[in-house]
Amino acid sequence: MTVKLFDRVALIGIGLIGSSLARVLRRDSPGTAIVACARRAETLDAVRRLGIADEATDNPAAAVAGADLVVVATPLSAYAEIGARIAPALADGAIVTDVGSVKGAAIQALQPLLPSRVHFVPGHPVAGTEHSGPESGFAELFRDRWCILTPTPETAPEAVAKITALWQLAGMRVVTMVAEHHDKVLAVTSHLPHLIAYTIVGTATELGSDLQSEVVAYSAGGFRDFTRIAASDPVMWRDIFLANREAMLELLQRFSEDLTALQRAIRRGDGDTLHEWFTRTRAIRRSIIEAKQA
Ligand code: NAP
Repeated sequence: MTVKLFDRVALIGIGLIGSSLARVLRRDSPGTAIVACARRAETLDAVRRLGIADEATDNPAAAVAGADLVVVATPLSAYAEIGARIAPALADGAIVTDVGSVKGAAIQALQPLLPSRVHFVPGHPVAGTEHSGPESGFAELFRDRWCILTPTPETAPEAVAKITALWQLAGMRVVTMVAEHHDKVLAVTSHLPHLIAYTIVGTATELGSDLQSEVVAYSAGGFRDFTRIAASDPVMWRDIFLANREAMLELLQRFSEDLTALQRAIRRGDGDTLHEWFTRTRAIRRSIIEAKQA
């Protein structure tokens, strides 16, 4: 079944997330015109080759002209510049949404720049891979995953309803949350695990070269899974940690206390503490499987 939620959609940033959404629109909303915007000629060429947009431009203001939906899908550090460039060109009544992984910072960067004649619906489709760029996108990326919208007190409910319908079209389950709460939740479920993966893989790269080659050979023992996460885009993740500073620092404090407790248990030969700890953590895995998020 096809629908047409929007006439003209401008995707500012056409990497993994932007291009996956473009593919959803191509598939399910063929009447919607898609304009893609990126900086590099190489990216724009890929968009044309893949046929995932009707137009491709490196000019954000030109991209948003006449669009009834604008989706900002760049790394967070580009938001302020993009906001300033698109603001004067936005159509009256247009909806601006984004897909950034930290909502407080996304709102802080974009909201003050957007004119009151447009609607801003901050959002985060919680779906991804470690790959980047338009070639890495696929329409099924979002299926059965959660999308969290974090409307501000100024956001009109009708605009939230339209963005909800957009992500539902992509197969997502949509909830709304206060931005600050979103950032705390994601610090636990996504940001801390990435930081730990970056740390572990970084530690391994500091080992002597003989040990390093063995780490690669025997990586299936657990290390391999961390390397997948630690292969995620460095710019995107730099931005996430800097943007979610408060929640990350608070969580890291708790994490390092727990790490110290486990360290002490190992040093003291306290098997009961370790066993009790690992039994509790097993239950979390079961609940993730039951929630079909495994
Ligand atoms: P990506 O694959 O690296 O793509 C980023 C896109 O943004 C590229 O098209 C890039 O264009 C463009 N871009 C970067 N700086 C720009 C600028 N100053 N002006 C215009 N375009 C610019 O990134 P992604 O993985 O799709 O992530 C995009 C956003 O989604 C991020 O904010 C991230 O937090 C969020 N997110 C990511 C995931 C994930 O797992 N990847 C999941 C959920 C949400 P060029 O190629 O020309 O540089």
